[in-house]
Amino acid sequence: MRDAVVLDVRFHKALVEIDHELAAKVRARGCPHCGGKLHSAQYPRKPRGWRPEVGGGETRLSYCCETCRRRTTPASVRFLGRRVYSAAVMVLGSVLPGRLSVAAARPLCVALKVPKRTLARWREWWRQGFVKTPLWIHGQARFMPTIGPQELPGGLLERFQGDDLEARLMRCLRFLTTVAVPARGHLP
Ligand SMILES: [Zn+2]
Repeated sequence: MRDAVVLDVRFHKALVEIDHELAAKVRARGCPHCGGKLHSAQYPRKPRGWRPEVGGGETRLSYCCETCRRRTTPASVRFLGRRVYSAAVMVLGSVLPGRLSVAAARPLCVALKVPKRTLARWREWWRQGFVKTPLWIHGQARFMPTIGPQELPGGLLERFQGDDLEARLMRCLRFLTTVAVPARGHLP
């Protein structure tokens, strides 16, 4: 495994494709509130750590119902809730020393100038907030041996198979798309 992670254009393009797949499934189901037809109502996002040369990468896919006008926003492998940094950066940046990807994550976070206090808040969220999400409460049973809160998210990332760190990260992000988005004001 390489000791430096390169979240290249190909990696980011794959994330965009996955987001389009997730969104297409949501759209096909129709409005979750009334069953009405969904129309595209995407909005701009500027996540830090995103490659600007990847077309469409700064758009959050979202829909508006033709009948009740309520908004439906599909899960995303690019954005974890409303956080400023991309989901990939948030996972890698939170990995603690001693885990497989820490050597890879550090230069990335330095290059992106992620403040130390932000990294500390992210780590806190993985141990205090993430463990209370329905995804983790119901989904942690699939990982044996169990992953303790202190091991997150590096211990989780290690459980996904892949030829390199990017491939593991991609699978991990797919798993995380079902994390319940915390309300505004509770973000790390
Ligand atoms: Zn509706």
